[in-house]
Amino acid sequence: MDCQRENLLSCNAGIYIHIPFCIQKCPYCDFYSISDLALKQGFVTALIKELKLRSNPALKVDTIYLGGGTPSLLTCEEIDIILEATAKNFSLMKNTQITMEVNPGTIISLEKSPCAIISSNRYLSNIHTLGVNRLSIGAQSFQDAKLHFLKRIHSADAARKIIADARDAGFNDIGIDLIYGVPEESEQSWLDDLDSALQYSPEHLSCYMLSYEPDTPMFDAYRKGLIIPLDEETISSMFRLTSTHLVSRGFCHYEISNFAATSRHQATVQHQSRHNKKYWQMVPYLGFGPSAHSYDGERVRSWNVKNVREYIAILDHEKLPVSEKEVLTHEQRLMEMLMVGLRTDKGIDIYDFEQKSGSKFEIRFEKALDEIGKRGWGEIDNKRFILTLEGRLFMDTITRWFVETMDA
Ligand code: SF4
Repeated sequence: MDCQRENLLSCNAGIYIHIPFCIQKCPYCDFYSISDLALKQGFVTALIKELKLRSNPALKVDTIYLGGGTPSLLTCEEIDIILEATAKNFSLMKNTQITMEVNPGTIISLEKSPCAIISSNRYLSNIHTLGVNRLSIGAQSFQDAKLHFLKRIHSADAARKIIADARDAGFNDIGIDLIYGVPEESEQSWLDDLDSALQYSPEHLSCYMLSYEPDTPMFDAYRKGLIIPLDEETISSMFRLTSTHLVSRGFCHYEISNFAATSRHQATVQHQSRHNKKYWQMVPYLGFGPSAHSYDGERVRSWNVKNVREYIAILDHEKLPVSEKEVLTHEQRLMEMLMVGLRTDKGIDIYDFEQKSGSKFEIRFEKALDEIGKRGWGEIDNKRFILTLEGRLFMDTITRWFVETMDA
């Protein structure tokens, strides 16, 4: 079934649950989270209320994603309560992919963890038993100096141990998150990180280029000249290297930052993040927790308040913690369809675009396609417009060309 052409009730939805706590804020991160763990219990109670208030037992759900923030700051009991409430209020499919983001520092550095009473092996096997069947492990690097620069709370050894423990606990769907492009990082050093991750035969790898997001301490340091970012040429070269290195080792580069293992498991798709693909395919998803976004798969997008205290207070009054709602215009939907299409290896579905827009893709974007073609940045294949690896490096420019044509 092509979910892009189906509505909320006829297409399996995804559920995202935002756990808005971190032991300390990483200086490059602009996700919403706070370090006041005293609010955790109140948050879990409020979250259960939100799940009940938005209950829709007819809604078929096949992905749950516990993200954050740091979901691994939750105790096994809290995870149990949350998953149970989700199952009670929605119709979970038999093969639901339940992903949880795990920060090695919360499980391995026991003195900092609320799960200090149990070992990492025990914690991981407990959450596996509770139904979590996919882990997204925030290793970021296997080098202490780089982890130190990123101000992560874990060591390289902790990252290694948690992956090994996860395998022992029975997880056969493990994703490892890595960051590249930190100041002074060499291509060889990045390759070492990739190879360290590959030693664990992960089913999935997310490789994020370090970015300097406004309103983060890292951005301030950069503006003050305290940090000199890597030059664009080296960053571009690292991006190409990431793709060629991983593809040559049996991974499929299915989204700009994401790679799924292919060779060991014939079905690549099996190891792609089914949940994240819903965002890229404009499939319905419901977001719970502070700052979480929801989309009905058609025109309405909404997001929750970005403040834990406010979130708890609103739910205390049995009200929905929605901060804003936006109704997308037809043109906005088309634009989003183009933008998310550019991110993935499936590209833009030209047939779908033409059906929805009533205009011929190749005529409407003639000028942009001409420029892209001249540079070897993209091509049309089997009624899909797909960016080449080189084109993915210039996605912002390409997107701007498409937007300008849409606006004209
Ligand atoms: S642990 Fe993750 S969510 Fe928390 S601040 Fe660091 S990068 Fe952001």
